[in-house]
Amino acid sequence: MSETYKRIETKLVHAGEPRPRIEGAVEMPIFQSAMFEYEGEASYHDLKYIRLNSTPNQVAVGAKIAALENAEAGLVAASGMAAISTTLLTLLSAGDHLLAQSSLYGGTHDLLTHDFPKFGLSVDFIDADDDTSWKTKLRPNTKAIYVEVMTNPLIEVGDLEGVVRFAREHGLTSIIDNTFASPVNYLPIEAGFDLVLHSATKFLNGHSDIVGGTVAGRRETIERIRHKLNHLGGSMDPHAAFLLNRGLKTLALRMRYQNESTLKIAQFLEGHRAVARVNYAGLESHPRHTRARKLFKGYGGVLSFELRGSVEAAERFMSHTTLPIIAPSLGGVQTLLTRPATTSHAGLSREERMQLGIGDSLIRMSVGIEATDELIEDIEQALE
Ligand code: PLP
Repeated sequence: MSETYKRIETKLVHAGEPRPRIEGAVEMPIFQSAMFEYEGEASYHDLKYIRLNSTPNQVAVGAKIAALENAEAGLVAASGMAAISTTLLTLLSAGDHLLAQSSLYGGTHDLLTHDFPKFGLSVDFIDADDDTSWKTKLRPNTKAIYVEVMTNPLIEVGDLEGVVRFAREHGLTSIIDNTFASPVNYLPIEAGFDLVLHSATKFLNGHSDIVGGTVAGRRETIERIRHKLNHLGGSMDPHAAFLLNRGLKTLALRMRYQNESTLKIAQFLEGHRAVARVNYAGLESHPRHTRARKLFKGYGGVLSFELRGSVEAAERFMSHTTLPIIAPSLGGVQTLLTRPATTSHAGLSREERMQLGIGDSLIRMSVGIEATDELIEDIEQALE
């Protein structure tokens, strides 16, 4: 696929779409059939059945994902967490050890700390900015290293090039959750990562109307992950796959607009007297701005900030905005506001959150595609 279409904008529209077009339909139809007639398939995993991730909508959007990521193969799963958990359980067996970035999405962090030990898997958390922290925690049974492209909600940017180098030197599988950047802003496979994961719930679908996940990488690894997914059952429904395929078509348009709008909002917030701190990699004040500028084509649609004052000030600000919706999640067309302490990181203890630098009054904003000046006006009146 990636050979046929050169640029991401074209791949988003055309890659993975059936040829010849089904009944001439210009949009991939929904194949809402749990099973398909037997056609002599030799292996269980090749039978056409929705749980086996082999039906037309799943296959089409998986091929589009592979093309976007410049990967050999791609697949879709029922959620970002289904993609993450299935990938890790494919790569790791009892007795294996994982190095994982300390400030991960709360659900992933929970999986590693609460569920992994029961499967005989161990994890050490690393500072993705400091290579001595990986080097000292490497063990003979370490199999993989897991990072996020930008952390949620502090928008830290780790030494991704260093992670790739380290993984190669030590024969580890390097895995990155690229949800916050999307393939429009960063292409991890080109940067040398072995596997790239997404919560497709966010920017990839972009319309806040499904949950989904994606994985892309080498064909043989993706096939192993698909077989595990077939057993664990976290398969994407055809209707969700149809919506994801539709949402993807506008990803480049949305993402670039969100990059621009978020930078303007971050600059506005940074200049406001009521704001104590803004976390956004596009700001020159961001401690890793130079690195982010080198790695990314844009800095994404999510920022976080702290007001001068307490949790009450944060709550008051949020309730005085009129355009943003106070809701968890991110990456959709609507601007969303949340306090991570009560949503994405509620699964962590307060002590764990404090260690990660996620204060109770931190506000995260996922910037949608509304007019930037209207958003800024609304933020300004709520700050006043
Ligand atoms: N990865 C990141 C960075 C996320 O923000 C999320 C969800 O918020 C996930 C993974 C999990 O995705 P899902 O909710 O689709 O399971």
